Amino acid sequence: MTIFNLFKIGIGPSSSHTVGPMLIANEFCKLIKNNNYFDKLDNIKIELFGSLGSTGIGHHSDVAVLLGLLGENPKEVDIDTIEEKISKIINSSTIKLLNEKEINFSFENDLILHKNKSLPFHPNAIKLSIYGNQEILFSKIYYSIGGGEILCEDDINKKSTKEKEVLYDFKNAKELLRMAKENELKISELILENERTYKNKEQIKKDLLNIWQVMKDSVKNGLVQDGILPGGLNVKKRSFKIHKKLKEEDGHDPIVFMDWINLYALAVNEENASGHRVVTAPTNGAAGIIPAVLHYIITFLLKEENEEEVVIDFLLTAGAIGLLYQKNASISGADVGCQGEVGVACSMAAAGMANYLGATIEQIENAAEIGMEHNLGLTCDPIAGLVQIPCIERNAMAAVKAVNAARMAIIGDGKHYVSLDSVIKTMYDTGKDMQNKYKETSLGGLAVHYVEC
Ligand code: SF4
Repeated sequence: MTIFNLFKIGIGPSSSHTVGPMLIANEFCKLIKNNNYFDKLDNIKIELFGSLGSTGIGHHSDVAVLLGLLGENPKEVDIDTIEEKISKIINSSTIKLLNEKEINFSFENDLILHKNKSLPFHPNAIKLSIYGNQEILFSKIYYSIGGGEILCEDDINKKSTKEKEVLYDFKNAKELLRMAKENELKISELILENERTYKNKEQIKKDLLNIWQVMKDSVKNGLVQDGILPGGLNVKKRSFKIHKKLKEEDGHDPIVFMDWINLYALAVNEENASGHRVVTAPTNGAAGIIPAVLHYIITFLLKEENEEEVVIDFLLTAGAIGLLYQKNASISGADVGCQGEVGVACSMAAAGMANYLGATIEQIENAAEIGMEHNLGLTCDPIAGLVQIPCIERNAMAAVKAVNAARMAIIGDGKHYVSLDSVIKTMYDTGKDMQNKYKETSLGGLAVHYVEC
């Protein structure tokens, strides 16, 4: 498992509902092309199940699937051309698969969102079927399992063939800490060694800095965008005005740094809600927390240190914690609620922050544990299925919480009652016990109890 599965460059508003579906449609098209179905097929049907069916429209899953069929991918798609591409498909009632094979396509009938049907393996399921002469030629089910990761039905019980053996194959936090200690490595150094299984050191650092660049761009772009977020809720963007106000501050407010942390997170998540480019960290819904904490470090705390080294160290440490959640729980809101998205991002950011503050590995583990412990039970109930309320503000709250968790951990000696492994298990069990209406279906919580003004 690589940390680059946690930090993926894509577009908003959702990693599981936008990035994942685009990748699935793209992969399916390549599969049918490679199996020589392009000459025989004349129709394609896509069915979205579970959470994708319930909140797919608000999360742009429909748009994402169509883009994937065209051959687009989340990392490179030109966001300025998306509207035009989708309008062309709808107005012409045709689609050009992988920009190569043109077939008739009805947006109303060939893309089906099942609001009350789920498939057993995971709440985010997509079935794609192709037809020739009105007979089914081929069909496949895929799952979008969180953070933009996808899984084909054929691979459910297989260990991924892409998964290579890493040097330090830790299964949980206890093993991670033991291996780091035994080998006298920092957590970030241990992860760097593991990442060398996939690419050389220079490439790893280059890719991490590229991720940081996209994070910085998402903050920068968010700060200059004013207006209303798309989707119909008429939620006003706040970053532009807050930024203007903060720049005018006289600098006497001792807690003003908190406003800046909030601002960085809001900026990223407003970009995400606008369908613009962000980095999953570890998901799109929670994309603002790690960039906000990193911006706080770089802007307010950095002294003599080298920015690039600090960023790389932070992302490697945060990535280690993210891997623990991916291995032993879930980072999908549709699977375990928002604790799996915002909670995990908070835990990752707390670890990265503690590492920057010079924490021992025990204190880093403690910071990550605190970061999750106080997010346990956090439900996913986005109003109107849009990744806006409570998502945007929630990132700001969690970013500040991550800084607090790191500071609490660093004051202590690393000894604490609840281990990170216990809190990860608790998060997962709590998520599994959580009613479906609180897991990215918009059928409960804030999604049904807000008053429209
Ligand atoms: S409530 Fe949390 S998990 Fe749900 S969409 Fe918003 S950020 Fe994602």
